[in-house]
Amino acid sequence: MAGGAAVTEELMPGVRASTASYALSLLRPDIYRDLELARHGLKFTPKDPQLFVPLPDGRHFFVWRDAARTREELQKIHGPDADAYVQWGRFWEEAVAVLRPFVESTSPPPPAEVERELSRRGRSDIWRLAVAGSAAGCVEEFFASDEVRGCFATQGIIGTQASPREPGTAWVMAYHALGGELMGATGTWAWVKGGMGALTQALAAAAAENGVGIATGAPVDEVLVDGGRAVGVRTSDGTVHSAGLVLSNADPKRTFLGLVPEGALESDFRRRVQEWRMDGAVVKVNLALSELPDFSALPGGPGPQHLATTEIAPSFDYLEAAAADAKSGRYSARPFMEVFCASATDPTLAPPGIHVVSAFTQYAPVGRWSAEEARESVLATLGRYAPNVADAVLASQVLGPPELEERFGLTGGDIFHGALMPEQSFGDRFSYRTPLPGLYLCGSGASPGGCVMGAAGRNAAATVLEDLRAEDR
Ligand SMILES: Cc1cc2nc3c(=O)[nH]c(=O)nc-3n(C[C@H](O)[C@H](O)[C@H](O)COP(=O)(O)OP(=O)(O)OC[C@H]3O[C@@H](n4cnc5c(N)ncnc54)[C@H](O)[C@@H]3O)c2cc1C
Repeated sequence: MAGGAAVTEELMPGVRASTASYALSLLRPDIYRDLELARHGLKFTPKDPQLFVPLPDGRHFFVWRDAARTREELQKIHGPDADAYVQWGRFWEEAVAVLRPFVESTSPPPPAEVERELSRRGRSDIWRLAVAGSAAGCVEEFFASDEVRGCFATQGIIGTQASPREPGTAWVMAYHALGGELMGATGTWAWVKGGMGALTQALAAAAAENGVGIATGAPVDEVLVDGGRAVGVRTSDGTVHSAGLVLSNADPKRTFLGLVPEGALESDFRRRVQEWRMDGAVVKVNLALSELPDFSALPGGPGPQHLATTEIAPSFDYLEAAAADAKSGRYSARPFMEVFCASATDPTLAPPGIHVVSAFTQYAPVGRWSAEEARESVLATLGRYAPNVADAVLASQVLGPPELEERFGLTGGDIFHGALMPEQSFGDRFSYRTPLPGLYLCGSGASPGGCVMGAAGRNAAATVLEDLRAEDR
């Protein structure tokens, strides 16, 4: 199936789930418009509430799209945090306005130059709080309560084998706030009707209309090189596809170490690829349930708690403990989880009486893996907040690093083709032009990075067109 890690697949007969990625925010508006994705069937709805945060002591709060409503929620938790939410929103509006152009660029400057540029503009605070520092450091600057801090720090650890106190996690957090233009507000996340696969199916339809042929189930074994130039690919069935140009959407390790013959790239470049940090941090658990989770913190429903992303991240300490478990080779006993009841927003995914619930969780253990251990820990953790879940499971699917690698070709299970840390971002991410003439990188290992965003592919296409025009001249 076309779609990479953005697909909707059957979990059990008649029940469909967004197997890997499941929430949309960063899709570039020009791609949405230029490729007429709405005409090709893409429909999305901003989540409202955005977040539901149940707490271990039975309290809860929501983050709504409406800031005033969110302030009222935070007031219940810690008065000063409610006031701080206004400054938090203002800071991110400014930070995103400053950082977004670097992400759109086909030739972004290296991080050190970004730092200098922000300093020149008198915005070193943005470099410190939204790029170089830790997610915890940024959140602490605004909020005082454990509960609010834990919730807002989560975006800094997504896809990364790092605790929220690790320097650079601020950039992971900023990256996840860069979208939302199509949802009417910075940083807003949406659900896609028909699951995330509906987006890639819309892309495939737009491509087909423009004469593109798509072959699936045809893994490339090798990029063919002749006279120091990429001249095509050979697929695993031995078929040779000759081509003037090759664009690879596989991750940098797979592309440069797995597909390009060893002698075709300089050893320095190969070393850089070998040292590229790829983190297998994520475990995605997809469940078919006979009933919706009945949260102890807000019993009953269906209600707003089933429309939001549920954040299980009650404090920095909780997230740090989860990261420490993983580093010592254990699946976190109390994992960080983002739970989404997809069928509550989109009944087309399952027949009446069946619910699709996914848990995006961290951290997969470093160096050891047991899907069964992860499944038990996720169900036990979910059970602490919604005790009815354990007995409601009709089907479950656990996708940890090995399964993500096997299913989606993600080396080491890294969901972003390389950790989204500052030292692997901006001009220090891979560029679209590679050292092998005729070969381009167009996936999320290239700048700006991962997420269902489209920027790397769009920028790679623009780079190819620029090179073709230059050759014509
Ligand atoms: C579990 C999980 C949850 C996520 N959640 C979200 C989310 O909610 N929101 C969000 O915005 N992002 C999310 N992401 C990240 C997002 O899905 C990716 O960043 C995005 O799919 C990247 O797109 P891409 O085109 O760069 O690469 P990919 O989607 O990784 O696609 C790469 C493609 O290359 C193919 N390939 C690899 N090797 C070969 C080969 N040798 N021959 C032929 N084909 C090959 C793969 O099969 C795959 O189809 C998630 C990812 C995962 C894994």
